[in-house]
Amino acid sequence: MRSPHGGRRTGGFPPTLKRLGQHFLTDRSVLQAIADALDLTGVETVVEIGPGRGALTDLLAERAARVVAIELDRALAAMLRERYADRPQVEVLEADVLEVELAAVAGGPYVLVGNVPYYITTPILFHALRPPPPSRSVFLVQREVAERMAASPGEEGYGALSVNLQAVSFTELLLAVPPTAFRPPPKVDSAVVRVTPLDTPLIGPSDADAYRKLVQASFGLRRKQMRRVLRTVRGLDAEGAEAFLKTAGIDPDVRPETLTPEAFKRLLGALRAG
Ligand code: SAM
Repeated sequence: MRSPHGGRRTGGFPPTLKRLGQHFLTDRSVLQAIADALDLTGVETVVEIGPGRGALTDLLAERAARVVAIELDRALAAMLRERYADRPQVEVLEADVLEVELAAVAGGPYVLVGNVPYYITTPILFHALRPPPPSRSVFLVQREVAERMAASPGEEGYGALSVNLQAVSFTELLLAVPPTAFRPPPKVDSAVVRVTPLDTPLIGPSDADAYRKLVQASFGLRRKQMRRVLRTVRGLDAEGAEAFLKTAGIDPDVRPETLTPEAFKRLLGALRAG
């Protein structure tokens, strides 16, 4: 049955809104695996992105000291507020996660989790990288995104997301999840990943923006050699570009897709010193 809001009503829940990437996880073993991967000890604040109908929120509420669940769908947020009315440790925020300062709503150290809406997965991952980062994160994402997160230089999928994540964190692919684990099933395969900050990140908070911009601009020209990339991105002549690359110890003939996060750091340093 169609609802007046354009979604499809299912089982007494608010209408399912495809435009919000609503694929609800119904497989108990995958829900358990996500909660287990957070390694909760009962004292943590968990921020959950897109709680939906609360399948994962229920497990988190049992294992965490506090859960802040951020849901954009007004009807789902209202339903969750009602459901957790007698559990003050669960707070439901009706908001766009990209507009929320995650560390601020957590109010201190926190862990992050989400079966994230696939239409904004990459912006969410970049949003979650903003300092101060969560002490660990577990996401259910498209399998292809999971592979990009963990890809090494030269591998298919290695790009701006891989470099920016790997400069500050370590990504583990924990579990492949088929479309049948969701209602309604998505068209793509999914995977559970855990992201843990490095003890010594390559890039500190004050360099994060400049690093991200350099990496993103470089991968915007991923098929070009680094000499050309620097000429375009920095408006340099060939000689100037080669001088910076030499200082950074980078062969001007290589392409961005072969550079390690460390090489991008050296390049940022050389450009700054110049
Ligand atoms: N966690 C639930 C589950 O596993 O069944 C729902 C996951 S569903 C893939 C994604 C959820 O994120 C939906 O409930 C959707 O309404 C919500 N959502 C979509 N865009 C959002 C945004 N920008 N901010 C917060 N939540 C969002």
